[in-house]
Amino acid sequence: MIQFAGVHKWFNQLHVLNDINLRITPGEVLVVCGPSGSGKSTLIRTINQLEPIDKGKLVVDGMDLLDKKTDINKLRAEIGFVFQQFNLYPHLSVLGNITLAPLKIRKMPKKEAEEQAMTLLARVGLAEKRDAYPSQLSGGQQQRVAIARALAMKPKIMLFDEPTSALDPEMIGEVLAVMQGLAGTGITMVVVTHEMGFAREVAHRVAFMDHGVVLEEAKPEEFFRNPQHERAQQFLKQLL
Ligand code: ADP
Ligand code: MG
Repeated sequence: MIQFAGVHKWFNQLHVLNDINLRITPGEVLVVCGPSGSGKSTLIRTINQLEPIDKGKLVVDGMDLLDKKTDINKLRAEIGFVFQQFNLYPHLSVLGNITLAPLKIRKMPKKEAEEQAMTLLARVGLAEKRDAYPSQLSGGQQQRVAIARALAMKPKIMLFDEPTSALDPEMIGEVLAVMQGLAGTGITMVVVTHEMGFAREVAHRVAFMDHGVVLEEAKPEEFFRNPQHERAQQFLKQLL
């Protein structure tokens, strides 16, 4: 579903992605972890071309991102992105937030878009909040709405960039539970997170990044039991 082959990216002098080679299969859940500034956000932002790459090959669902003929709008329509900040539209209700893109971009009939939104809201446990506005919701609830909103476009791929980092501790679990519910449904997930409990239980593979390099890539049981690189060992120790 996603293939990085010899991918490089620079921000001026900074070599932010250094020879990334990763294959993510359909339905796979990949957790990306590593120290702050190691390039995790840049890596996942390249997948929907929020950050263009400078060198190498990046193919997403058969679309070559360096091919000028690739339709970036088509690519982005297949990819849901959930950020640390929830970024809901403050002037729209929960239902309005979730139906906006299906109505405007997919040209879905209103009734169908609303029915789909209610199904998604039930899935994230927020059916009773359909008419609430973002400011009336807790952080955890806003993030669950953001996930429902992304799912409304029926993406093949969901990208999560530290989706629980801005949340109060008591709200982290409810968001991770929704993400766990998505895993194994066939959707491909790339999740940047420091929640190693989630990585252990839900990820099919863990990639550890440091200074723009994927230093280690392993099944979670191997990564946590026996991290190969000293940097990974240090990183895991700090999280304990
Ligand atoms: P992470 O998500 O692992 O914390 P990032 O991908 O956000 O790391 O950043 C990696 C490095 O690239 C950092 O040193 C950061 O300061 C730098 N960086 C990120 N975005 C930009 C940008 N738009 N311009 C210049 N430098 C950037
Ligand atoms: Mg980041």
